[in-house]
Amino acid sequence: MDTLMSLTAYGDNAQDALDKAAERINALEQSLSVTIPESDISRLNSSAGATVSVGEDALTIIQKSLEISEKSGGALDITIYPVLKAWGFTTGEYSAPASEELASLLELVDYTKIHINGSTVTLPEGYSVDLGALAKGYASGCAEDILRSSGVDCAILNLGGNVCAIGSRPDGEPWKVAVASPFEDEEYLGILTVEDKFIVTSGKYERFFIGEDGRKYHHIIDPETGYPSENGLAAVTVIGESGIECDALSTALLVLGEEKAQEYWRKNGGFEMILVTEDKRTIVTSGIAENFTNSSDRMTEVIN
Ligand code: ADP
Ligand code: MG
Repeated sequence: MDTLMSLTAYGDNAQDALDKAAERINALEQSLSVTIPESDISRLNSSAGATVSVGEDALTIIQKSLEISEKSGGALDITIYPVLKAWGFTTGEYSAPASEELASLLELVDYTKIHINGSTVTLPEGYSVDLGALAKGYASGCAEDILRSSGVDCAILNLGGNVCAIGSRPDGEPWKVAVASPFEDEEYLGILTVEDKFIVTSGKYERFFIGEDGRKYHHIIDPETGYPSENGLAAVTVIGESGIECDALSTALLVLGEEKAQEYWRKNGGFEMILVTEDKRTIVTSGIAENFTNSSDRMTEVIN
């Protein structure tokens, strides 16, 4: 998954449970990676319109992505892959594509064209998907399940910005999770005190390049334009009970922008969030406000 992962657990069965969780994460990589030719996703991407049978993991993630795509009006769209490739975000060979090229690639972007039937998936010819926006969240949920069913009730996992806090700290206090800051001049934004929660951050600062025009281009693409989303939001942290949902939402809400993200939260609920704007405002939903300590001297705005 091209990221650093750290898994820490306490208790009698902890080492054994962690070994199993790590094994599960590695197996997921094999079935979900777009760069492993035999993976379910690679087979789907090279299917040229044919129906492909996929495993339960790929199926669950694709289904969840479609649900959030619908609810977010297409802000999350796993068929964005051809556009991501054109920008070089898949290989590191970055370059800003010409607007004509983006326009023609956008014709291959439309999540409503993904068809699921039982355990098979069909993509139109030329289409391809990438689960990067939800795979780490799904993997952290799988790791959580393994730890809990092995009897572990005290653990903290971090899969590249997808944090899962299981239970409370060994001393009984809530876990303290630092929320990364999107700004270069500060290490973190603040501290969340949580128990039994996923905390997932998506930010424009994570993966980006400076174009020949001197502009900064980051890795979260607005499927409506084909360009990195530019709407005044710098980062979104989602706090909730489901790893995959928090991950899907962190990406979708970053694309939606401040106002539509708030609308989404009010309409759908089931999670809390922290929005950070490019002009350095921090906006926190009421359900998590008491658990968040801002580490800068800036004010935290609370929304209801
Ligand atoms: P990260 O992987 O950096 O932690 P995210 O969970 O926000 O962050 O996922 C970003 C990844 O999702 C990108 O690297 C890319 O693979 C993919 N992606 C980018 N834009 C979109 C989009 N609008 N919809 C779905 N996937 C996207
Ligand atoms: Mg995400």
